[in-house]
Amino acid sequence: MPAAVYLDHNATSPLRPAAFDAMVEALRAGGNPSSVHGVGRRARALVDAARRQVAALVGALPAELVFSSGGTEANNMALAGSCRRRVLVSAIEHDSVLKAAPNAEVVPVERSGVIDLAAFERQVMSGEPALVSVMLANNETGVLQPIAEIVRLARKAGALVHCDAVQAAGKVPVDLHGLGVDYLSLSAHKLGGPAGVGALVVRNGVRFRADRRGGGQESNRRAGTENVAGIVGFGVAAEAARAGLAAAALRDRLEQALRSIAPQARVFGAEAERLPNTTCVSMPGVAAATQVMALDLAGVCVSAGAACSSGKVHRSAVLAAMGVSDAEAGSAIRISSGWNSRAEDVDRLIAAWRDLYVRVGQSDIPKSQAA
Ligand code: PLP
Repeated sequence: MPAAVYLDHNATSPLRPAAFDAMVEALRAGGNPSSVHGVGRRARALVDAARRQVAALVGALPAELVFSSGGTEANNMALAGSCRRRVLVSAIEHDSVLKAAPNAEVVPVERSGVIDLAAFERQVMSGEPALVSVMLANNETGVLQPIAEIVRLARKAGALVHCDAVQAAGKVPVDLHGLGVDYLSLSAHKLGGPAGVGALVVRNGVRFRADRRGGGQESNRRAGTENVAGIVGFGVAAEAARAGLAAAALRDRLEQALRSIAPQARVFGAEAERLPNTTCVSMPGVAAATQVMALDLAGVCVSAGAACSSGKVHRSAVLAAMGVSDAEAGSAIRISSGWNSRAEDVDRLIAAWRDLYVRVGQSDIPKSQAA
């Protein structure tokens, strides 16, 4: 059996070899960036270099970056650090936003998965100046949100804007100042860096209150000795990602092939602008868990559309917000390619999906969906 085909980059992307090598070197070198001796100064230089690399990926100034333990912490830091009492979130945000702001007002999305801008405008204007948190790209469907337009409307209401760019960075161009947002979250392991490191970008001059107590690291914005090797891996991965952003050719070929195998298959968010690497597709009548297991047996790794951190499949809040029925959402899988994906990988997936469809798909499809 050939090595497994990995098409689950939105869950985590394999560590890029250059990031791995740089991390090993940094681990060997050791040192605390706060120490004044030579070993400490070399560690500081590594962190500074990585800060420039990550900042360049999103058009930020190095000083605007606050390294964190990942996207989850960055999102939590933004929601707490803006000090706004009123928070607005879109209905399709990641749990690290939704659960960090349990009292937030929720803005609906359209059937395409794009935020309902008219509803947003009404909501943001009706009340005290809020913090608005809307992601740049959705992790399940890849649908991109009109952030610059959201910022324009938010400004009219005196609102601040946080953007979770965890899934977008390294896949599509991201420019902090072009978008105009105040806070931007990033995570290393979604773009070929290590898990457990990320960053919150705080635009120059924007208010930010640190919520953990301790040392003065990260210019007093995030206490705790830096994860030097992780940060170094993040920097190298960010630079590599910037040099080779994803193209949509593989995704488009995949979707065309799946639709020709199963004409009733539905690609969620297909009407909207999407990430070039993400396909959320249903095989009507076949449970997502069945598809994931069958593909796994065929050596292909993908996710159920709604896999959560425990690996269990729950009802997808994202697809529900897009008006997708439970039955259809229950048969959705997510296929996400990345920096090491090749055309042969997609061919293996297509072949395995076709085998499954021939074996169980057609016979199991309810009459109402097979029409
Ligand atoms: N935001 C989005 C959109 C994500 O997809 C994820 C991870 O799946 C996160 C935030 C959390 O990032 P991390 O795993 O680095 O905590």
